[in-house]
Amino acid sequence: MASAPEGPRAPALVTGAGGFIGGHLVAQLLARGRAVRAVDVRPTCAWQQHFPAAENRRLDLREADSARAAADGVEEIFHLAADMGGVGFLGSHRADCMVSTLIDTHLLLAARDARVRQFFFASSACVYPLGAQVSTDCAPLAEADAYPADPEDGYGWAKLFSERMCRHFREDHGLETRVARYHNIYGPHGAWDGGREKAPAAICRKVAHAQLTGSGEIELWGDGRQLRTFTHIDDCVAGTLLVAEGPHADPVNIGSAERVTIDELVTLVEEIAGIEPLVRRHLLDAPQGVRARSSDNTLVRERYGWEPSTRLRDGLASTYRWVRDQVEARQRSTSRH
Ligand code: NAD
Repeated sequence: MASAPEGPRAPALVTGAGGFIGGHLVAQLLARGRAVRAVDVRPTCAWQQHFPAAENRRLDLREADSARAAADGVEEIFHLAADMGGVGFLGSHRADCMVSTLIDTHLLLAARDARVRQFFFASSACVYPLGAQVSTDCAPLAEADAYPADPEDGYGWAKLFSERMCRHFREDHGLETRVARYHNIYGPHGAWDGGREKAPAAICRKVAHAQLTGSGEIELWGDGRQLRTFTHIDDCVAGTLLVAEGPHADPVNIGSAERVTIDELVTLVEEIAGIEPLVRRHLLDAPQGVRARSSDNTLVRERYGWEPSTRLRDGLASTYRWVRDQVEARQRSTSRH
């Protein structure tokens, strides 16, 4: 008997599509020929990227009805919406970060009720215990290290809670959930000023500003010896799709294994900008996050034969160009008014 012709595939829902990672993910899904419903609480004019080929909707996913409308008729969900930012934002918006569990809860319930095939959740390296990140001698963080739990206050607890909720929706309701723990994602089209920006974009902005004004100096949060890994957006999107499409349900790191201190990051950006080393003013009272955090990629290599591979110098080059363009455009528009 001839099989019935397949109808068009239902769309994939991307939440937080107006944000940094969501925008890049929508672009990649569209490039693969997927229909996409893109949802964000911000008006589309404020989205980092906006693609007319997607069905773009403004919805506040803290509300149950909005979550149901977003999930209605989609095949799978890439859930990235969250109220978040860099270390300065996280330390002063703990309640707001925890309110994001409302979004996660309503969306999981909506996905279950709409019989969505699969639910991907964007978690974070902030779920790892603070005690495992106190010195540069600390080992890279492997997935099993998340317990016993002592995550970042506010944001880390919210992500860890929602990771577990994903697991229990899978076990109790048969909803196929997938979870990735992102480690410091950077690249063009991310927040670069205004308080939500992360270290790579903030440092690109400060170096660009020093270059454009000839100030010769830069202010840095902390003593510059904090250790981090930074993961390029292309690796983040590739890892997201691998994890979402793969068979493994428990959380997996998406993080570069290339470790740098903040001072080394500044040196890289100065070299990319082609400027003389700036005078560094280290602000020791400013927020600086954990002492050392990096990603153990054993599990992602074993499971997917893959790990992030973009060299920091290469990824920063395009990020710096993009941030410098934003700084220049801002300066031009300020000088006109
Ligand atoms: P982002 O802030 O650029 O994007 C998040 C988007 O969610 C924003 O556009 C925001 O408007 C939207 N949003 C917030 N509240 C909403 C609501 N109530 N309803 C609908 N939309 C809402 O952040 P990002 O860097 O793109 O991060 C995406 C996801 O990845 C987040 O869940 C974040 O916690 C996670 N993550 C990011 C990083 C990173 O380095 N960028 C690291 C770890 C985890």
